[in-house]
Amino acid sequence: MPDLEVTDSRKSQVGDIAVRRALPRRGRRTVGPWCFVDHVGPAQVSGPRGMGVAPHPHIGLQTVTWLVEGEALHRDSLGTEQVIRPGQLNLMTAGHGVAHSEEGAGGYHGTLHGVQLWIAQPSATRDGPPAFEHHGSLPCRDLDAGEATVLVGDLDGTVSPARCDTELVGADVSLRNGTTTVPLRRDFEHAIVALTGAVRLDGAVVDPGHLAYLGIGRSEIVLAASEPTRAILLGGVPFQETVLMWWNFVARARAEILEAYRAWTVADDRFGQVDSTLPRIDVGPPPWRG
Ligand code: MN
Repeated sequence: MPDLEVTDSRKSQVGDIAVRRALPRRGRRTVGPWCFVDHVGPAQVSGPRGMGVAPHPHIGLQTVTWLVEGEALHRDSLGTEQVIRPGQLNLMTAGHGVAHSEEGAGGYHGTLHGVQLWIAQPSATRDGPPAFEHHGSLPCRDLDAGEATVLVGDLDGTVSPARCDTELVGADVSLRNGTTTVPLRRDFEHAIVALTGAVRLDGAVVDPGHLAYLGIGRSEIVLAASEPTRAILLGGVPFQETVLMWWNFVARARAEILEAYRAWTVADDRFGQVDSTLPRIDVGPPPWRG
């Protein structure tokens, strides 16, 4: 019997918005290369602050932003200014260093609901140049009682055009009333995070605020829903490198994180400038030295 472990997400706050953080958590740091899963909202936003996430730095990861409702404006130190809406993907690669903000788009007032996910970059690319991609539409795959939109990676031959540094899948699964079989790769470990409705699998119910870890070795998963349901499917080959995370940095060693922290704190050109009206975010040092 493959693994099944359903865990509670932690309530947290990002900028002005309440989030439910499904990863990382004690005992489960990664699912494939996925190392951070925030279910954002649903929350009401208004005006130019929007999500209200002021400029902050990243290293060694990709951020995946995907909305089911609302609008947000991404700005970064590469000079990008990109509005994102439901059905679209923002993928930012931090590599050696990037800074960004997530703000309101054109005075959007209303509900904001989505996810922000981080993918740990492998050593082959994690010290490389930063980059940003926006994809206005993504490939969809029909399922028995629903469909899957492939955000990143490959779901049984349906391949996202987004950059992908390791073998993985990230998909939005939309379910109608009924039972749906989703093909999986046996060499991937997988997890499911519910956004709306409820997913039944292997006798368990996964609703918003929970993550179901499915382990490795499954060639499919049977999902059932009795109401319109949205969930995020994440998977990948178990990440072979030790991931050390502190604040917005993903690295391998404390010294790398301290170096990035110092570079941000003194505002040197490693992270560049974000053209934002919000003041940059500063935090105290990591709880270790050297
Ligand atoms: Mn960020």
